[in-house]
Amino acid sequence: MYIMEKAPAKINLSLDVLHKRKDGFHEVEMVMTTIDLADRIELTSLKKNKIVLEAESRYVPNDERNLAYLAAKKMKKHYSITGGVHIKLTKHVPVAAGLAGGSSDAAAVLRGMARLFDLDTTPGELAEIGAEIGSDVSFCVHGGTALATGRGEKIEELPAPPPCWVVLAKPPIGVSTKTIYQALDIKEAGHPDTSSMVEALRTGDYEKMCQSVGNTLEGVTVRLYPEVAQLKEHMLQAGADTSLMSGSGPTVFSLVEPDVKARRICNHLKGFCDEVYMVRVLGTKDTLD
Ligand code: ATP
Repeated sequence: MYIMEKAPAKINLSLDVLHKRKDGFHEVEMVMTTIDLADRIELTSLKKNKIVLEAESRYVPNDERNLAYLAAKKMKKHYSITGGVHIKLTKHVPVAAGLAGGSSDAAAVLRGMARLFDLDTTPGELAEIGAEIGSDVSFCVHGGTALATGRGEKIEELPAPPPCWVVLAKPPIGVSTKTIYQALDIKEAGHPDTSSMVEALRTGDYEKMCQSVGNTLEGVTVRLYPEVAQLKEHMLQAGADTSLMSGSGPTVFSLVEPDVKARRICNHLKGFCDEVYMVRVLGTKDTLD
């Protein structure tokens, strides 16, 4: 049997780091939404008890270090699946970019294997398994738009953002999330108003949403990679309604309503940045199929 799953990237409309916990993780408050930029996961069941990963990208590993492989391993163990699975992963989401590409691949494997092996499970149960893989995997299992708290594993669904374009630009660097968290001084850092963002989404207020974006990690990444701040500045100068770094970076996104304006920003950025994308915000769950 064969099935296909879409693994969409996410952007952080807001990301706040509250404090470091005793277990070493950071307590966060993140408002995340999915965008129409996705990897493709194709799963085929195998009679032999093995996991085979075919990743068509030189940027990601083809073995257990790949989060998609790890997800399959966890599913086999958790549900005592004796058969095997062949995973074909086609990457479109930039790697180590702050867009949760790896987490979304893992989540797609969790969802996909539940379908492939006709398992009696729930998204909540899959999200719990996902949390063992990485902090963003729980959100990616659910998709749509959500407030993620705890270390990212507690998910509260939110309405999709008002329809708009997302223009993304990734400078030619990979950023390690661990490095950014290690360099973060929580007291010195800026903190977004998460409740204002939640309120903006609940009332479908585009302007308020644009005013409420914020990312505690942005200042840290900008100190290490000034090109992140430059990209933000370019986006705003070219007419973006707002601009923010996603996750721990280095990808910067802007939100724009009319497509002519989005195209103008996109063309402007392409003059000096190789990786530029113009996509729709998805924000709803049913777009995962
Ligand atoms: P986040 O926003 O959740 O912090 P990210 O977008 O910054 O994630 P990823 O693209 O998920 O980062 O990749 C982070 C690291 O994980 C990379 O160094 C990469 O080698 C590794 N990795 C493992 N599996 C995958 C995968 N399927 N896709 C991308 N990266 C993967």
